[in-house]
Amino acid sequence: MSSDDNNNPFEEIQKQLRDLLKNPNLGVNVTPFMANEKSGAPEEKKESKKIPNESPEKEDSLKTIREFNLRPKEIRDYLNKYVVKQDEAKKVLSVAICDHYNHIRQCIDTPDLKKQEYAKPNILLLGPTGVGKTYLMRTIAKMIGVPFVKADATKFSETGYVGSDVEDLVRDLVKTADGDMELAEYGIVYIDEIDKIANSGGSNSGKDVSGRGVQINLLKLMEDTDVNLFSPTDMMSQMQAMMDLSRGGKQKKKMINTQHILFIVSGAFDKLAEDVKKRLNLSRIGFSNNDSEEELSDLSKYLQKSETVDFINYGFEPEFVGRLPVRVACEELKPCDLADIMQGSEANVLKQYQSDFNGYDIKFTITPDAIEKIAEKAYLQKTGARGLLTVFERIFRDYKFELPSIGIHQFTVDADTVDCPHNSLKKLIDENTHLLSNVLRKDVDRFCKDFENEHGFHLDFENDAVVWISQQSESMNSTVRSLCLEIFKDFEHGLKIISRNSGSNNFTITKDTLMDPDRELSNWVVESFNNSQEKSPSENA
Ligand code: ADP
Repeated sequence: MSSDDNNNPFEEIQKQLRDLLKNPNLGVNVTPFMANEKSGAPEEKKESKKIPNESPEKEDSLKTIREFNLRPKEIRDYLNKYVVKQDEAKKVLSVAICDHYNHIRQCIDTPDLKKQEYAKPNILLLGPTGVGKTYLMRTIAKMIGVPFVKADATKFSETGYVGSDVEDLVRDLVKTADGDMELAEYGIVYIDEIDKIANSGGSNSGKDVSGRGVQINLLKLMEDTDVNLFSPTDMMSQMQAMMDLSRGGKQKKKMINTQHILFIVSGAFDKLAEDVKKRLNLSRIGFSNNDSEEELSDLSKYLQKSETVDFINYGFEPEFVGRLPVRVACEELKPCDLADIMQGSEANVLKQYQSDFNGYDIKFTITPDAIEKIAEKAYLQKTGARGLLTVFERIFRDYKFELPSIGIHQFTVDADTVDCPHNSLKKLIDENTHLLSNVLRKDVDRFCKDFENEHGFHLDFENDAVVWISQQSESMNSTVRSLCLEIFKDFEHGLKIISRNSGSNNFTITKDTLMDPDRELSNWVVESFNNSQEKSPSENA
């Protein structure tokens, strides 16, 4: 029996469990991040502090919540830096967030308060896709410094045996908080596409049992309930149970309480908007005669007028809607808003593209005409600010592929670039062919440097060799690098022999070397061998 066989087989499982709990990306497909204001724009998960109750580290992890002292207008100002428009949503969310985290701070200071009745301001965010619903909440969570997870409601099933269990969301908060269960209890859970789990055909049809079941499960979660850190349907949790049993103990229960977890549910609710439109048009209330046709065709306007009864008719359980007291509709983004996002918002797609080109030392400026045209094209996509990404991708796809190889350092994006990127790119390349020889020379130098780093031999290309490989590169539409890799792929062994015979690691590359590399290399080997033979007698003498 090997010594390995004596190891406790559960130790490996235990290790895997520990890794699993540290890994925020396991479990349901959620998009978690740890929020922290000092780190700039909203981003993926950051380091956070670990649990233990009396350790000074815990003090730190809950510090931002313990010391929460923001005012609604301060949250609104912070949101204004990132999120364009959505003034009503910013106002409503800022108030709800301040109320909630003030209450939590008071509960931490005075634990008796926890026992008192508290109507949590869970939030229902309505509005078309890509208008900033998630972005608002993500940015708020980042500002406060609490864990945030997002998942689509359609992923959940009633039992959790097929699809995910809604409780997984809470477990994911713990993973996002790096195992810090207490911090997770103050986190934010965001569930998108909630409109897809309405009972089809209204609440009385009873057709869609699963949607109703998920609503009921979410309802429990939104109230005050304890969630076991180890899921009964999760294999790893079962292993943990086995380990505990094997040690003769009971499975340890680790519970996360949901009383202070804030739930945000969101959805586009197109059909509900249609229903509200019908209801309001029938009675002609809520809209003035001055409302333009364009405004009335914007369905998100009708969502602002939605009532509890509309949601119940839509297929939501009255108790479920009742647990979502804060409701606010986000507006559709118009072309001028999309232009503002490009120019104003701190984290925007234009900045991202500028930074992408910066990676190749290329800067571009964009004219106001171009911004206007991009915004109009993005608006036609009907996917909110996401439309900007689609339009940018289409305009810059070939630019990103071609420009890093032509030696250009600056260009301008104007209305023609947006209308006809292909022609504009061709013109740009034609105007800058004089830069190409320099780029190809640099490509050769780059290859030589990499070759030396990898094999220890210095290659010195003569001018005619550089010209030849550049011509080949253009005529074969292949990069200098891939041509050189092919030519020199079998050189290492030969160069080693030559180096041993001659003591030199420097090699001059001529056009002939490139045209017939095998013949040249064997000539060099023979020559180095002969030279070493000639040298030897005199050295011996
Ligand atoms: P949804 O409303 O579907 O939740 P998101 O909030 O996920 O849309 O928006 C997708 C992305 O589009 C965001 O990450 C953000 O970069 C950008 N975006 C959307 N709306 C806005 C807005 N109002 N202001 C600035 N950027 C926005």
